[in-house]
Amino acid sequence: MSNYIPTIGLEVHVEIKSKSKLFSSSANSYGMATNTSVNVIDLGYPGTLPTLNKEIIRQGIRACKVLNCKINRKMHFDRKNYFYPDNPKNYQITQNRTPIGTDGYVEIEVDGIKKKIGISDIHIEEDTCKSAHRGNVSLLDFNRAGVPLIEIVTTPSISNDKEAMAYLTKLKELLFYANISDCKMEEGSMRCDANVSISKNENLGTRTETKNISSIRNVGLAIQKEIERQEKVLENNGKINEETRRFDDKLEETLLMRVKETGNDYRYFIEPDIPYLILTDEFIDDALKTLPLLPDELREKYSKVGLSSLQIEKLINNRSLNDYFLGLLDYETNYVTAVNLLLSDISSYLNKHNKVITDTHLSYEKLVSVVKALEDKEISNKNVKDLIDSLMENDLTLKELKKEFKIENITDDSFIKEVITKVIENNPDSVNDYKSGHDRALKYLMGQVMKETKGAVNPKLASDMLENELNK
Ligand code: ADP
Ligand code: MG
Repeated sequence: MSNYIPTIGLEVHVEIKSKSKLFSSSANSYGMATNTSVNVIDLGYPGTLPTLNKEIIRQGIRACKVLNCKINRKMHFDRKNYFYPDNPKNYQITQNRTPIGTDGYVEIEVDGIKKKIGISDIHIEEDTCKSAHRGNVSLLDFNRAGVPLIEIVTTPSISNDKEAMAYLTKLKELLFYANISDCKMEEGSMRCDANVSISKNENLGTRTETKNISSIRNVGLAIQKEIERQEKVLENNGKINEETRRFDDKLEETLLMRVKETGNDYRYFIEPDIPYLILTDEFIDDALKTLPLLPDELREKYSKVGLSSLQIEKLINNRSLNDYFLGLLDYETNYVTAVNLLLSDISSYLNKHNKVITDTHLSYEKLVSVVKALEDKEISNKNVKDLIDSLMENDLTLKELKKEFKIENITDDSFIKEVITKVIENNPDSVNDYKSGHDRALKYLMGQVMKETKGAVNPKLASDMLENELNK
């Protein structure tokens, strides 16, 4: 084992959800036909003037809150000057000197140990065009030009690949739940650059920056591989250069892209076409009013109503079910039973039909009545399975459905007793097993009772009666 200490800092860009772009009225939506959401501002025509979309500032304020950052009340935008084909203005409008948020953190947990990953700043900026290379030509899609981004920069406080992955997972969850971004790395709405250095003492080593990493898992891999590469270089008395690398996910290694430009090359200056912004308390409060409950708040709330941590994580991983369940908390019901239904039969139905729960006819009242019927043993889980399509697809009440499907709970003692007597007669071996202490035999016999009656008897009643008969 080597005795180098790795240090990692991550720069993450997320596309902010909004109706229109950062400085123009073109739609900000993913997946439109190329170059159809474009106007003169996005194209960088000379003489056009940007207008700031205030909703993006609101989103930035929400991001500050969620990431525990101090909000910069007075800020401006800056021009970052550079030439590149995807940047026709020859500058990008960003926030260099007055980022909207500073000094925040995200709390992560790795192997049971909690740690705060520091965030040095978050700033708002516009995206560039998207380029695509086809043989000898390069094509540009201006739909992405001017799409609002937040860049979130950590301090060099991440110690290994696991922490980096935990940080990204948490960041994604937070921004997604806050409705700031959909954070899909595979669609490019979340992008991560990893800065990595190693050192044998507390002075940080020279870092490299690895770009173009396409998934959280690959960020972990890229970091691991880059640490190994740097160790090899230093062990062979080589020198680490400050450079930009990229991760090749087929080779599973980082490759040199270019030697790093230094910050001064960008000739940052204050963007003259956008006025200074001064954020008032009212504006900030107003932006924060619409912030929904965040995952850790949900976790606390759900564990109070008795959900297991597995149920909680499954719910939080499914935003639409989670939001539905949150509404259910206004009703009185057995939440654990309700969540079990949501995560089993209801989820299978939704997956099979490729629907979200709000597309169905499962009202809260209906769900509550199903939970109650299950609790009272009026219906069985098998009945729920049989009824699931109807429960989700029409407006009949559970009572009406039971009638239609002839699910009646037979509570007629003499009928149940008749069936039990028959089952006992036909299964002498199982009866003997039960009498010699094999509990499973009871389950089997009960199964036979349900089979004989096609599940139509009240299961609790039948099982009590069966046990009584057996113990006679
Ligand atoms: P630049 O402006 O050149 O991108 P920054 O100072 O903003 O540089 O740092 C960018 C990222 O690199 C941050 O996430 C920071 O934590 C990280 N970083 C800086 N120095 C190191 C280092 N020696 N090792 C690892 N990460 C570093
Ligand atoms: Mg940077």
